[in-house]
Amino acid sequence: MKKKFRNLSCYEVQHSIKQYLLDEMTIEEAEGFVKHIRFCDVCRKELEEYYAFSSALMQLDSMEEAEKGNFFMNIEKRLERTEASVARQKADHRNRRFAYVFLALLFAAVMGVSIGV
Ligand SMILES: [Zn+2]
Repeated sequence: MKKKFRNLSCYEVQHSIKQYLLDEMTIEEAEGFVKHIRFCDVCRKELEEYYAFSSALMQLDSMEEAEKGNFFMNIEKRLERTEASVARQKADHRNRRFAYVFLALLFAAVMGVSIGV
């Protein structure tokens, strides 16, 4: 199967961190982003710092005391959540392809029967 995402450069990844955190990416973009983050320590660090920084800003008005120590854990959860939805979406595609094959076979069977009758 052809891959929908291309390999992103560090520059591209670091400039789309905000987009990722705001959930403004398509699933394909998010997949490329997370894959890069998984193998690139430089961008991973950028992401963690950006996340910690923006969380700290939000914290000033809305965050609970208990959440304050959890920035890095949260970003890990977030990366895992993206990977889970990418995996889910791929499973959907597979299931849909099976459904089409099944429908085509069913259609062929029905046609065969009506021609036979
Ligand atoms: Zn990088």
